[in-house]
Amino acid sequence: MAFREVVGHRTQVRLISSAVDRESLPPSLLFVGPDGVGKRLVAIALAQALNCTARVRSASSRDSFPVDGCGKCSACIRIARWSHPDVPIVESRVLRVDSERNRDVPPDVDRVREVLGEAMYRPFEGRRRVIVFNDADRLTPAAQSALLKMLEEPPDSSQCVLITARPDMLLPTVRSRCSRLTFGQLGTDEVLDALVRGHKYEKKKAQTAAESAGGSLGRALLLVSDELDVARDAAIELLRKVAEATDTTGRLQAAKEFVPKANGTKYVSQAHVMRQKLSEHLRVLGSVVRDMAAVGSGADKKTLANVGLRDKLVPLVTKFEPPRCVNAGRIVDEALKATDRNVNPKVITDWLACQL
Ligand SMILES: [Zn+2]
Repeated sequence: MAFREVVGHRTQVRLISSAVDRESLPPSLLFVGPDGVGKRLVAIALAQALNCTARVRSASSRDSFPVDGCGKCSACIRIARWSHPDVPIVESRVLRVDSERNRDVPPDVDRVREVLGEAMYRPFEGRRRVIVFNDADRLTPAAQSALLKMLEEPPDSSQCVLITARPDMLLPTVRSRCSRLTFGQLGTDEVLDALVRGHKYEKKKAQTAAESAGGSLGRALLLVSDELDVARDAAIELLRKVAEATDTTGRLQAAKEFVPKANGTKYVSQAHVMRQKLSEHLRVLGSVVRDMAAVGSGADKKTLANVGLRDKLVPLVTKFEPPRCVNAGRIVDEALKATDRNVNPKVITDWLACQL
């Protein structure tokens, strides 16, 4: 993922490339912007441009970057896989639920200290160490305080990149010591182009996903995958089990099964995938609930958002009459807001299943 491969954000990426070229990059950067727009990928491209062994240079022009990673050398490949010793990533692990004790696992302050300890020494093999803190807002105050020491006295050979969609959650002292770069939503055309050319999806399918993705390529990738069918099935199952449940235990069991399965990839963290998937599942649940109200009111089949689900909704309508559906719609909206605020998925789904 070199600068030239980043979808959108031309101005920001060119700014970074020019700063790398002039060796004038501020030692601590704060990438701010909505989830799923590519902030992590820009951090990868930056680390590659700094450490690539066959850097690509181009004459300054509107459509090029002064310096870029080759994307092919061993350093570039390992950086893209997060397996380069000089480019560690600190992931927020707060969304991994400790099911035994039913609570969040906070980001490991020891991990932050370990990474920062290494930063005091020269890079192992690269030119410059690049330490990436993904979802930096999820670092505990103790971890942020540990980080602050480095931000106050940055080592010469290290570059810090903090990534967040919620900068207000960072300690003001941390925020004020970083140079902020803001990444906006992507355009529908940019998302569509990335789906078709970059990910080889068929144009018609990609178009629908791009239009509903709200400027997030991460979200579009979920929509265009089979995730939509999975989310619909999960919504129906949740409603069915909640309707059958005779006590709280039954509802909590239904909630447990509603939490989407999420695996990170080399480009996207597990916490990020989980948040995206849960948001998506909740949005789908909202549309299923609205359809159920429509079925209960005898509305025309053509007005349904999930036409194919009608037969599965009919048996549920006796339990979910229109007023209950309206209330359920509000509850789903609340759950979505909580997801945006980064509340733990288990807490959200337990609450949801008890309220529906
Ligand atoms: Zn390279």
